Amino acid sequence: MERVLEIYERHVAPTYRRLPIAFSRGRGAYLWDLKGKRYVDFVGGIAVCALGHCHPSLVGALRRQAGKLMHVSNLYYIQQQAELASMLAEVCPEGIEKFFFCNSGTEAVEAALKLAVKHSKRSKIVAAEGSFHGRTAASLAATWEKAYREPFLPLLPENFEFVPFGQLPPLEKALGEETAAVILEPIQAEGGVRVPPDDYLPGVRKLCRERGVLLILDEVQTGMGRTGRWFACEHWGVSPDELTMAKALGGGFPIGCLGAKAEVMDSFQPGDHASTFGGNPLACEVARSVIRTIRKLNLPARAARVGKYFRGRLEELKGRFEVIEEVRGLGLLLGMEMKSREVAEKAVEGCLRRGYLINRTAEKVLRFVPPLIIEREHIDGLISALEETLKGI
Ligand code: PLP
Repeated sequence: MERVLEIYERHVAPTYRRLPIAFSRGRGAYLWDLKGKRYVDFVGGIAVCALGHCHPSLVGALRRQAGKLMHVSNLYYIQQQAELASMLAEVCPEGIEKFFFCNSGTEAVEAALKLAVKHSKRSKIVAAEGSFHGRTAASLAATWEKAYREPFLPLLPENFEFVPFGQLPPLEKALGEETAAVILEPIQAEGGVRVPPDDYLPGVRKLCRERGVLLILDEVQTGMGRTGRWFACEHWGVSPDELTMAKALGGGFPIGCLGAKAEVMDSFQPGDHASTFGGNPLACEVARSVIRTIRKLNLPARAARVGKYFRGRLEELKGRFEVIEEVRGLGLLLGMEMKSREVAEKAVEGCLRRGYLINRTAEKVLRFVPPLIIEREHIDGLISALEETLKGI
């Protein structure tokens, strides 16, 4: 570990605040560090490893395809991309039936925003306070956190406006003749696991339709079954015009995807957008194995069931510890807001010492986004670890 830290210090960009730990292998919900200590993973690579670590179906697909064909180019038709697109059309919300493939969440958002401007021939984007959409220029311009945006203002487009998340009147006011799209996460994840009121997304959908404004839902973190449905927008019966995916779509292998209604996606013409690696045979085969496995194990329903149990156990803790302010979330996207950043940091450290990986976001919110295959006994173990930790604070 000392050698790793030393090399990082000398040769790796200091863009991340890292915990002093590195892992050598993973299996299911478990990770082992370089010394062989085992951890239960409630971070899942930040909502990426939906099937857990090294699921045999994913590993098998990866191995098979790697030995056959990894990459060609979008100069040609790619059979695996076609098959993945057709599978996605089956699981995506109604109307989302054409897909553009890329390699990450921010690229999917970037593509969504370009498509919105091209399709609508309008120039303005409305986003929500508390949002997170990624780190490339347009995605970052749609991201609320000032600390992420301000150092890079010279690079960012200025035609983005923010409105409070979860409130319809300010959104209605912000929509104008020049508005191309509204971009929202159905549940704000990085922003502290914030679930909007039940009338919000249906209201946004209605407003956008009335004003001829596109609705982009960013399901990079909430998608692929995490919240108890394939996509979180299904909880409110809402279907967007554009939908972004990444993270769990590859289960750990990098892939991003923009889905859209056909009449919207068809505004892209050859040459309008591209990605060298986007939708290559290897990434697409892996994503296909992820979707097959989510289906086979019925993971959205499992996330709903296990998430309900998990939430109940967190609520019990809230009843016993004053340092817990609120428990929020849906399915296996859960957040527990603590009294202060310091308490949240101590909770992360305490759990780590006890062999449980959890994450802190939005200053003082503990975020739980475990693999969707997590078991009740893992949850019970984490609750005990949190309990012991909080007793000592
Ligand atoms: N959109 C949402 C909702 C996210 O949560 C994230 C990442 O956390 C992104 C976009 C950016 O994804 P990536 O880090 O793959 O670029």
